[in-house]
Amino acid sequence: MRAVVQNDENRVVFAGRARGLRGGLALLVVAALASGCAQGGGTASGRPGATSAPPAAGAGVQAAKGAQEKAEAQKGAQAEKAARAAAAKRWGLDKVPLVAPPPPAKKPRIRTRDGFEVDDHEELGLPPVFTTVPTDQKVVFLTIDDGAEKDPAFIRMMSDLKIPYTAFLSNYLVKDDYGYFRTMQKAGVSLNNHTLHHPYLPGLSYAEQKHEICDMQDIIEKQYGKRPVLFRPPYGNYNQDTLRAAKSCGIKYAPLWDEEVYVDHWEYREDDQDLHPGDIVLTHFRGRDDWKGTMPDMIRRFLKKVTDKGYAVARLEDYL
Ligand SMILES: [Zn+2]
Repeated sequence: MRAVVQNDENRVVFAGRARGLRGGLALLVVAALASGCAQGGGTASGRPGATSAPPAAGAGVQAAKGAQEKAEAQKGAQAEKAARAAAAKRWGLDKVPLVAPPPPAKKPRIRTRDGFEVDDHEELGLPPVFTTVPTDQKVVFLTIDDGAEKDPAFIRMMSDLKIPYTAFLSNYLVKDDYGYFRTMQKAGVSLNNHTLHHPYLPGLSYAEQKHEICDMQDIIEKQYGKRPVLFRPPYGNYNQDTLRAAKSCGIKYAPLWDEEVYVDHWEYREDDQDLHPGDIVLTHFRGRDDWKGTMPDMIRRFLKKVTDKGYAVARLEDYL
């Protein structure tokens, strides 16, 4: 009996030592990794072992540095959170907008929504027409059309709140003040094509449609230095000629929308009258001339629903 007990004790002791040993090995591995990072993937001399400080001391310094960096990152994140809360308060939001997750490493494949195809859509490689981006992330995308209202407070609000959006411009509405949209572009917004004069495109010939779309490509490139790859047909109306013309002058995508937000209400494409992951939301550059409120009022309505439903606003271009 006694021997058995001793044996058991011995085993327990041995097991304890084994755990200790494994712990020691793990520490060594961590130290090796840390010093590997510190040397930026190898020394210039090509002699990885030729460091003056003993490895244990180097690892200690690295661990302290790592802890300091972690603390600084935490402090930075807290400061950012506080700044977001302050911005939300400044702009009269009930809740702080959620921060979008990083976009997927592998971009989703964008396909034309069922029922939205034109003849030979895929065969001709025409730009896909879609209302939602395939994703599981709880994000929506904000797109803003036309360009009549040019409210400086709107640009300030969006920059302050760090809410991304994508603009679709129609030349006859923006040509009196290209500079307004230049300010927007400098804040990171991509400026895209919504034709010269906002016509009902299916009523025009191929040549007329090409003029409306491709001449707008040239104007945006001349004014803003970048040729758009996104085009939205006015009213969401298009035919095969529209997409062929758009493709001929560099358009890669034709995003439509799944919801539209106004200053005083929402409209939904789907029967469930709800937001879905990856939905594209449409609104317009409109103010008190057209609406009972300002663009910041509209954004407050937009963000209220989006945040209440647990969505963040992401950047459409990051998913295309
Ligand atoms: Zn429009």
